[in-house]
Amino acid sequence: MLEQAQRVLKDIFGYDSFRGRQAAIIECVANGGDALVLMPTGGGKSLCFQVPGLLRPGLTVVVSPLIALMDDQVATLDELGVAAAALNSTLSAEQQRELAGRLRRGEVKMLYLAPERLVQPRMLEFLQGLDVSLFAIDEAHCVSQWGHDFRPEYLQLGQLAEQFPHVPRIALTATADMRTREEIVQRLHLQGAERFLSSFDRPNIFYRIVPKEAPRKQLMAFLGERRGNAGIVYCLSRKKVDETAAFLCEQGFPALSYHAGLAADTRASNQRRFLNEEGLIMVATIAFGMGIDKPNVRFVAHLDLPKSLEAYYQETGRAGRDGLPADAWMAYGLQDMVMLKQMLQNSEGDERHKRVEQHKLDAMLALCEETRCRRQSLLAYFDEVLEQPCGHCDNCVDQVQTWDATEPARQALSAVFRTGQRYGVGHLVDVLLGKDNEKIRSFGHEKLSVYGVGKSLSEHEWRSLFRQLVARGLVDIDLEGYGGLRLSDSCRPLLRGEVNLQLRRDLKPQTSTKSSSGGSPASQLVRGEEREMWEALRTLRRKLAEEHSVPPYVIFPDSTLLEMLRSQPASLADMGQVSGVGARKLERYGQAFLEVLNGGESTQAPKVVLDLRHELVSLARAGMTPMQIAGQLNCSEKNVYSLLAEALGRQELSLDQALDLPEDLMMEVQDAFLDGEGELPPVAAIAAQFAQRVPEGVLYCIRAALAAEFEL
Ligand code: ADP
Ligand code: ZN
Repeated sequence: MLEQAQRVLKDIFGYDSFRGRQAAIIECVANGGDALVLMPTGGGKSLCFQVPGLLRPGLTVVVSPLIALMDDQVATLDELGVAAAALNSTLSAEQQRELAGRLRRGEVKMLYLAPERLVQPRMLEFLQGLDVSLFAIDEAHCVSQWGHDFRPEYLQLGQLAEQFPHVPRIALTATADMRTREEIVQRLHLQGAERFLSSFDRPNIFYRIVPKEAPRKQLMAFLGERRGNAGIVYCLSRKKVDETAAFLCEQGFPALSYHAGLAADTRASNQRRFLNEEGLIMVATIAFGMGIDKPNVRFVAHLDLPKSLEAYYQETGRAGRDGLPADAWMAYGLQDMVMLKQMLQNSEGDERHKRVEQHKLDAMLALCEETRCRRQSLLAYFDEVLEQPCGHCDNCVDQVQTWDATEPARQALSAVFRTGQRYGVGHLVDVLLGKDNEKIRSFGHEKLSVYGVGKSLSEHEWRSLFRQLVARGLVDIDLEGYGGLRLSDSCRPLLRGEVNLQLRRDLKPQTSTKSSSGGSPASQLVRGEEREMWEALRTLRRKLAEEHSVPPYVIFPDSTLLEMLRSQPASLADMGQVSGVGARKLERYGQAFLEVLNGGESTQAPKVVLDLRHELVSLARAGMTPMQIAGQLNCSEKNVYSLLAEALGRQELSLDQALDLPEDLMMEVQDAFLDGEGELPPVAAIAAQFAQRVPEGVLYCIRAALAAEFEL
């Protein structure tokens, strides 16, 4: 079974190996078992039902909550040469009839449906008459009444268990918490399902949280290092979304806005542009997100603090679904805390609910002020242990310093107390620094014992200290009044000198605005000299995407373009080795991308390739070894082998001419290929046997020669 699955993976999807638990999940489901799959965004959930769907005879029915997601997946499968269709409200009656006909004739392999459609009695009856061999329930957390994506129709999917007792079901979600998991099992009757729980770490995301100083400037510095990449900037309010988007456009960044206050068609059109065009920045409230399947979102920036770690994880998780490097960046400051605490206080709901929300906010603040690895801390919140610091977050790479702030903290608390617990940070810092101004004199604060005691710290350092005191709950913000600070009960031990206080030392604002990441950003995929070719590849992809009316990433994901760029395939055979290039796409697009790689002008390229082939054959006949040919033609040895394999396939060369191999080794390889009966085995089947002894390219050559000789 796994061998077949491997072949489907390579031939249809163009990938070399399964990721994480994919293989185990596919084996379970393809053999008719039920499965519950919990995997983070970008983990590769789709393959977990698409591959078994292709391995099993009959139809796979996929339940998906959003039309946009369905259309995306259907387009992707279509490009791969898999017969897929979506049945939803956008189809006309005529189109629906036509689709029903195709389904009856068994011409569709994968059918996407909205849950409300699936559970209609007529639909269930119709499906009973078909050969359904698998149900996949995507976004299964929509069954949870406690989650924000709750869809009542999902509750009715439980009946599939009785109506189709012999059809395996696989439910998938990226929501990690235990309660949701149990709810899915209960409601969907998946008690007997095997559970596959993956790590929720997103190793390709680089996390950075900086203190807010001059937010727009900081954002610009962050974006400036990521020009040309797509990303999302989250803000709390609609007004701030509009202002930030306008500001970015003024500054020459291509930005769009998205929030619930925009007209529905503007929202839809902005979302469509974000998906279909490259390098756009979406400035949005949290209304933007669910259903954003765009794999190449390179960064998510927060200009305001999310209200919980769940929200932070979900929002930042929209970056880097494709597994390539991505950035999660956030600027946060005291004002964010005041705002969120105020919102919480004014929100509806009982005291218990507010307490729960307060705890969630506290956990979010703790992450902001965390001095150890952010990833360890984030995963720990979701009950996952990461043994070592990740080495891929700001705290790991900058080696955050802490300092003993016990004494200054006491001075700060004392300033709060002596000024009557009603002033904001600005005034308190002025008092500590001994500033001479109107406000101070009018309240007589220059006479206080704390006046001017804090001159050894800068204003910036005092602000950082106050922020951390608030984040740790050592002082409270007066939410009824003007945001003045008050002592909280938990500061007593510190005041009494019973405990010490270690605080995070913020990076100097200059460095944090000049370079937000201290070096070139993780998410800048290509550098200097590669840029031109990268753009050329993207241009071709965009052109093809327009011709086919699909988003660019449906033609090829960035990871595939990047591998083309780095490995420089010189032939179609090479191109077929690139991860993400399956048979169908190779046939459709291989040549076009080869031409771009081999020199841009599409009329010139074939000639160049032909010349190269011609020359190669001459050099081989002349007795040069593959290594010498590579040197002569200035191309990689791998490329030489694949061109040699092609020439051998056309019988333009003999094996002796092409290769430089001892007689007995040559015989041994040939025997290995001819050992079985019937078909020649693929190179992969015997590669291990000859690993370290001959380059893999040699195996391709010998196989090509044998295939040509025996017409296999
Ligand atoms: P999820 O639904 O879990 O967020 P997807 O199914 O969209 O993730 O997969 C994310 C990306 O990873 C897609 O571009 C997909 O083609 C790619 N991918 C999935 N599995 C593999 C694999 N085994 N090898 C290479 N790429 C993969
Ligand atoms: Zn880390």
